[in-house]
Amino acid sequence: MNNTEFDKQHIWHPYTSAVHPLPCYEVVAASGTRLTLSSGESIVDGMSSWWSTIHGYNHPKLNEAAHCQIEKFSHVMFGGLTHEPAVQLCKRLLEIVPDGLNRVFLADSGSVSVEVAIKMAIQYWACQGRPEKSKLVTPRNGYHGDTFAAMSVCDPINGMHSLFKKSLIEHHFAPAPQTRFENTWSPDDIAPMRDIFEKHAEQLAALVLEPIVQGAGGMRIYHPEYLKQCRQLCDEFDVLLICDEIATGFGRTGKLFACEHAQITPDILCLGKALTGGYMTLAATLCTEQVALGVCEGEPGVFMHGPTFMGNPLACAVANASIDLLLSKPWQTDVLNIETQLKNELSELKTNDKVADVRILGAIGVVEMKMHVNVAEIQKVFIKHGAWIRPFSKNIYIMPPFISSPQDISALCEAIKQGVACC
Ligand code: PMP
Repeated sequence: MNNTEFDKQHIWHPYTSAVHPLPCYEVVAASGTRLTLSSGESIVDGMSSWWSTIHGYNHPKLNEAAHCQIEKFSHVMFGGLTHEPAVQLCKRLLEIVPDGLNRVFLADSGSVSVEVAIKMAIQYWACQGRPEKSKLVTPRNGYHGDTFAAMSVCDPINGMHSLFKKSLIEHHFAPAPQTRFENTWSPDDIAPMRDIFEKHAEQLAALVLEPIVQGAGGMRIYHPEYLKQCRQLCDEFDVLLICDEIATGFGRTGKLFACEHAQITPDILCLGKALTGGYMTLAATLCTEQVALGVCEGEPGVFMHGPTFMGNPLACAVANASIDLLLSKPWQTDVLNIETQLKNELSELKTNDKVADVRILGAIGVVEMKMHVNVAEIQKVFIKHGAWIRPFSKNIYIMPPFISSPQDISALCEAIKQGVACC
């Protein structure tokens, strides 16, 4: 049995059926922006392995960082022990994240960093003598991960987790922000969120959102003023703001962190994905000194969370190399060039009968179709045209590595056009 046959019969992939799995392609090499498949094709990666591989694959600097650290030690428990890679990483993070964040909790996946953020917010209020502040509020169309607390703030109607609704803690959902990033701000957009704050602030621990780009819940890109006003509401009504920058962090939207579009600092910030340039599984939850001290006031006096692979030294070493590499480059120009090219090459699809919308920001391009896309069929077209793109529901979207050449971006845009033509 070859690898893809074994895979089909025994391995469960994300968001797929074990009975009717989607076709699966075997990667035998990955370098720069390209994946080589066992069939021999070399295709341009449009997904950055789900927002992660901003420097592309097999980067000498990241390889070197992993090699150097593995010669020293690859893991030690983070309880009672610390190490240089984690200390260096947390120093770097605190230098680059929005001002005011001062403590770092390292985790091992994006979903877990969201769980940690939610637990921090609830514990913070309980330790302030306000245990009734345990509910969350979040805009619809959000996505924050697949674990239970994270699922509870994913969109319950359009979302992927509706089936689990009865097992999830119920929170408050505001309509998704409607004013697009590039349009004139419409003050009405924040009114429903304000309404929820006015009615329920006494029970609210935190507002949870993805700043500027709502990812897996719909690939929507909204106006920075919405984010600014959410910050103001949180201040006015004594509610913590949790920003999930797991997808948007590290330059993807044209700013190092999407919060910078609105010049705000959240009380709690979640990072993951591109933190290690997509090499290792690592995430972080950062918070202000006020939150950290508040969480540890009174009983129990500690924060009860501690993943086994917390602060994994290999992952931290690669994260350090990835951040250094990003900051050593004119990454903003690279992302802006990708944005300009995506606008030039994808905008024509706006007038296509089958296309509902085209949205572009930074190194993110989204073509929303009017109908659901048949993933298996359209992927054959993409691969035939030399591109790795994985759409979901109606959205064909790309977030290529920042090192993508103009030829790579053209190849991706051309493949999207061919895919749209075949829908
Ligand atoms: N939040 C956002 C915004 C995400 O895009 C994702 C991953 N798609 C997550 C949380 C969950 O991260 P992970 O898959 O690493 O658990």
